[in-house]
Amino acid sequence: MLVTLKRDCDPNRVQASLQGLGLWAERLDGQSGAPAALLVASHSAGIDPDRIASIEGVAEICRFPSRHPRVDALAGTPMKVGGARIGGNEPPVLMAGPCSIESRELAMEAARAVREAGGQLLRGGAFKPRTSPYAFPGVGRPALAWLREAADAHGLGVVTEVMSELEVEAVAEVADLIQVGSRNMQNFALLRAVGAAEKPVLLKRGMSATIEEWLLSGEHLLASGASGVVFCERGIQGFDPSTRNLLDLGAVALLRHAYRLPVVVDPSHATGRRDLVPPLARAAIAAGAHGLLVEAHPDPATAQSDGPQALDVDTLVHLGRTLSS
Ligand code: PEP
Ligand code: MN
Repeated sequence: MLVTLKRDCDPNRVQASLQGLGLWAERLDGQSGAPAALLVASHSAGIDPDRIASIEGVAEICRFPSRHPRVDALAGTPMKVGGARIGGNEPPVLMAGPCSIESRELAMEAARAVREAGGQLLRGGAFKPRTSPYAFPGVGRPALAWLREAADAHGLGVVTEVMSELEVEAVAEVADLIQVGSRNMQNFALLRAVGAAEKPVLLKRGMSATIEEWLLSGEHLLASGASGVVFCERGIQGFDPSTRNLLDLGAVALLRHAYRLPVVVDPSHATGRRDLVPPLARAAIAAGAHGLLVEAHPDPATAQSDGPQALDVDTLVHLGRTLSS
């Protein structure tokens, strides 16, 4: 947004007033050398323009059209996902479960643990994106039915990933929240197909995606018919492998407090290490996350994927209790 100033005003004072409203305002110098305008960063757009117009010295406000109007329209409104509400000022939601739904028994045990932890959604992959072609790719369609059955038995919703346009229908049938993984954040054909299912979508941030690209992928989903989007920060590519990825809590605070969008954090894929999951989960909530997506397994040592980052049941239950206290 561009804020032009009246001739005789003190630009420093106007800038300070804008900053006092929590806005990020940069001075633009006019041709004569005198500052003629202030540029207000787009993430400040949540503030009512009338409040800006009423600042002494402000001449005019010029708003640039947003590239993601449908995403902007989600601001401040919680989204209904199964029996849960994510976003707005709702309390944090816990979504947890194994990386991969390996068997019906695992789905049942995991659902019981999530319920005990006070969670609202059961997570778990039927289709797994794996870096190596030789790694366990997930059980596939049978796991979708196990997920639904286990979630229903324990009064939970289901969040599960879709990897291919061919599987959208099957996934949409069981999922309360369809997950689009990091690697597919900019798979636009998949986004269109997922949007057409007209359900809420959990959109993970691509590991090298800017926040603007992430929001634009959300716009793709909404423009194709998705009923809502929950943004999920799961760590971006850093330079230091010690913590696998770099959990971008600044992005979480920005989405929650400036854009007022539904945003959750996956501390499991962010770190790859179970010992770092609880502290980062707490940090995520402090930064404003509306919820957590956490990997947990009744017997992490035997997990067929992502065992080292899976919480055991006791740790999950403890984490869940700290969330609700
Ligand atoms: C997952 O949640 O199972 C997963 C593969 O996550 P990501 O897309 O963040 O790597
Ligand atoms: Mn995983």
